[in-house]
Amino acid sequence: MTSAIDWQAASAAVLAAERIIVVTHVKPDGDAIGSLLGLTLALRELGKTVDAAVDGGTPEYLRYLAGADTVLSSLKEGAWSLMISVDASDEERTGAAGAYGRANSPQQINLDHHPTNTRFGNLHLIAPEAASASEIVYEWLVAAGWPLALPAASALLTGVVTDTIGFRTSNVRPRTLEIAAALAAVGAPLYDIVQRTLVAKPYSNLELWKQVFPSVQFEGGIISAVVTLENVKQARLREMSDGGLVGMMIATEEAQIAAVFKEQPEQNVEISFRCKPGYDVASVAFGLGGGGHVQAAGVTLAGTLEAVRAIVMPLLQKALAEGKARG
Ligand code: 5GP
Ligand code: MN
Repeated sequence: MTSAIDWQAASAAVLAAERIIVVTHVKPDGDAIGSLLGLTLALRELGKTVDAAVDGGTPEYLRYLAGADTVLSSLKEGAWSLMISVDASDEERTGAAGAYGRANSPQQINLDHHPTNTRFGNLHLIAPEAASASEIVYEWLVAAGWPLALPAASALLTGVVTDTIGFRTSNVRPRTLEIAAALAAVGAPLYDIVQRTLVAKPYSNLELWKQVFPSVQFEGGIISAVVTLENVKQARLREMSDGGLVGMMIATEEAQIAAVFKEQPEQNVEISFRCKPGYDVASVAFGLGGGGHVQAAGVTLAGTLEAVRAIVMPLLQKALAEGKARG
């Protein structure tokens, strides 16, 4: 797949490094933690000294992964010869841990699969055709001839399964399935991973949806919903998550674009976008300062829910019209 990638230079940088720090994007999802842990565990297996960090650490539902408890929730001391950023499309996405790591590492590898990647760092392992960052970690291990043991394989399969929502996204390629099969052959428990990351949800999730559903609006192919801080408080969520609400909304047959507006503290609004093939929400998110994939993207904007909706809805209408015009 990834002919333009210089695996050799990245492998040499790893082998030469005394100490390595691996970081990923804030509010980490299954692919962020999967690629972070998959790479970290594999490099530790090689005998390298590797720290892993993301602001807030590993979310509860992903703590079944071996090594999840070794992911640092903040970086306040240390210096490294090499930082590796995984699944993050820009430097800001790596949060405070990324900023600290960057300031204390002379060299940086940028491993990512987002088409909106800004190509930060010195060495680029960027493959937009990969459905998950975890696939790129797998390709690197194979290219370098480094061993892949079960704990790392489980982390990587978690990344593949979650970013493809169980092999259901339009960017799933034959190679995605080959990699998943190879990881399962090592022993990674596919059924268990699917249950934990895609199927099981805490009851508080349903409580949240009960409150949020009345806010659903559907007009001219765009479906949207609003999650307020009050909704989240009432539902007594264990962790801040809408439990895949936007994914459920884009399943609506008549909808081409879905957006969920999530109120955040200090008058910020986080927005999740999804769209059907033929449409493009990455451009909308990127134009607002965020990023993501053509079919799944996001951004956080300052302002009230109403103000942010007023800015964003016309942009979605434009993206809808452009998609329709492309035919
Ligand atoms: P989600 O809606 O699941 O949070 O995010 C969908 C996709 O958009 C993911 O690939 C995620 O990394 C990306 N994304 C979400 N929010 C942001 C953001 O604020 N900045 C950037 N660069 N990407 C984002
Ligand atoms: Mn990803």
